[in-house]
Amino acid sequence: MNRDFSAAKRIVVKVGTSALTYETGKLNLHRIDRLSRDLCDLKNRGMEVVLVSSGAIAAGVNRLHLQSKPDSISGRQAMACVGQSALMEIYNKCFADYGYNAGQLLLTKDVLDNGDRQRNFKNTIEELLKFNVIPVINENDSISVEEIKFGDNDNLSSLVARLIEADLLILLSDIDGVYDKNPKEFSDAKLVDTVDDFSAQITSQKDAKPSALGTGGIVTKISACVNAAKCGIDAVVANSNNFNVIYEVLEGKKVGTYFVGKK
Ligand code: ADP
Repeated sequence: MNRDFSAAKRIVVKVGTSALTYETGKLNLHRIDRLSRDLCDLKNRGMEVVLVSSGAIAAGVNRLHLQSKPDSISGRQAMACVGQSALMEIYNKCFADYGYNAGQLLLTKDVLDNGDRQRNFKNTIEELLKFNVIPVINENDSISVEEIKFGDNDNLSSLVARLIEADLLILLSDIDGVYDKNPKEFSDAKLVDTVDDFSAQITSQKDAKPSALGTGGIVTKISACVNAAKCGIDAVVANSNNFNVIYEVLEGKKVGTYFVGKK
C-alpha cells in the first residue's frame, strides 16, 4: 500500500529509552541532538511537532554516575526526578541551538482519564503550539504507582495523538519495525510492512519482550498504533538508528511498519 503523509501537519514523535541510550546505559547524545534538529527543522517547515520522550531514569542514572538502575521503586523514582530535569536540560539546549523552546508536560494515567483534565491538557498543548514551543511529554515516573501508571510511553503517545487529533504518530525504537516474531531471537523473523487488518495477529506474542533498557516491548507499540489507526491517525513504528528516519517516513518511503489510519 502506498504511503502518503504529505498532508500531515501535526505529528507526535515518541522516542523510547532504547533509542536514547547506548548499550552501556549512557545517553546517546548524538541521536538526541539529531532528533532535536529534525524536530526543529519540521517546525521550520510549518509543521506542529509534539515529542513524547522516555529516558528519565536512564538520564538520572547517568547524572549520578551509577552503574545501573536502583532495584527499589523509590530509588528508580528518585532517578526519574534527577533524570527528567537532566533530560529537559539537554532537549532545551539542543532546541535552543536551532531556535526553539521545549515545554514539559508530565502525565499520569488518572490525569487523562478525566474529561476536564483531558480538555485542560489539550488546551495547554494548543497554546504551546501557538507559541511555537515543542511540547515534551513523559509519564511522571517520579510519582507513578501501579494504579495511576500508563506503564509505557507507547500507549501514552497514542492517547496524546488522539487527544490532540494528530495526523501522524511515529514511534522510534531500536528496531526496524514490527516483525512477525522477535528478530533478536529468531533470524528468520520478517518485517511487517503494513498493518491494515487490526483483527489479525500481527506478531507472536510469546516472545515479544522489550529490549534490555526498554519497557513496553513490541506489544505496547502494536496496541498504541492500532488504537491510533482506529481513530484515523496514521502510525509508523521505525528505527531511530536510521538518522533520516523521520524524513523518510514523511516522504512515504517504505521504512518501518505502517498502521493505516481508518479515516
Ligand atoms: P523502546 O525502548 O523503544 O520502547 P522496547 O525495548 O520496549 O523499545 O521494544 C522494542 C524491542 O521489542 C525490540 O528491540 C525487540 O527486542 C523487542 N521485540 C520483541 N518482539 C518483537 C517483534 N515481533 N518485532 C519487533 N521487536 C520485537
